[in-house]
Amino acid sequence: MSDFILEARQLGKSFGGFRAVNNVNLNVERGTIHALIGPNGAGKTTVFNLLTKFLTPSSGQILFNGEDITDLNPVEIANRGVVRSFQISAVFPHLTALENVRLALQKRLGVSYHFWRSKSLLSELDDEAIERLDQVGLKRFAHLRAVELPYGRKRALEIATTLGLEPELMLLDEPTQGMGTEDVGQVAELIRNVSVGRTIVMVEHNLGVVADLADTITVLNRGEILAEGPYDVVSKDPAVMEAYMGI
Ligand code: ADP
Repeated sequence: MSDFILEARQLGKSFGGFRAVNNVNLNVERGTIHALIGPNGAGKTTVFNLLTKFLTPSSGQILFNGEDITDLNPVEIANRGVVRSFQISAVFPHLTALENVRLALQKRLGVSYHFWRSKSLLSELDDEAIERLDQVGLKRFAHLRAVELPYGRKRALEIATTLGLEPELMLLDEPTQGMGTEDVGQVAELIRNVSVGRTIVMVEHNLGVVADLADTITVLNRGEILAEGPYDVVSKDPAVMEAYMGI
């Protein structure tokens, strides 16, 4: 099996005449945390959308575990174990943490409403939901409504809802966006915890988090890869400083 869990080959996306992503080659090593960074408009979100087929590539190929997944739809990709968490929190605010995770599990199992009401199934799902909440440090918040959770904890809940899909590869879209220092620390720890035994690709603006967590960083600029490597290397790259940090 290839060392790379995810590969993008010559990936491209045009919007009308505008080339938002141009010949991007990405190799994500299994078991690592791989960050995509770059200035606004660099193409990070577009690459993310292409990898999960929320957008159809104009050119190129995407391979997951060596298999071509370019023509699969987002649901088929998720079923293979490539799961994305959204930038805008996808939890139901007025359901409890437990109910949110249970609902996600219910969806995974394709349990219809009728069977959903069976008591034994319900308690089975609850056991798994509690386990998932525990994995993200939310067990003690199980009966709080999502709306009552602090922001960082909402992120954790969102991740808990995706763990039920047993993702091999998790794509996180700006996991710390809009957070204060304390929440950022909590989410960084959470990412480190859920990265055990799986691969994470994340778009992240907070360079402290990137420096702390990422094994490999790909810097995008104007739809192309500008630099790639560990933080120490890319942060000293003059082209990166110029494009990314405006130095
Ligand atoms: P980033 O996430 O790095 O900020 P994006 O991937 O959102 O960058 O955008 C890359 C470029 O593509 C930007 O110039 C943006 O305006 C353009 N773009 C993104 N989505 C669309 C779209 N649906 N239609 C037209 N242009 C788009």
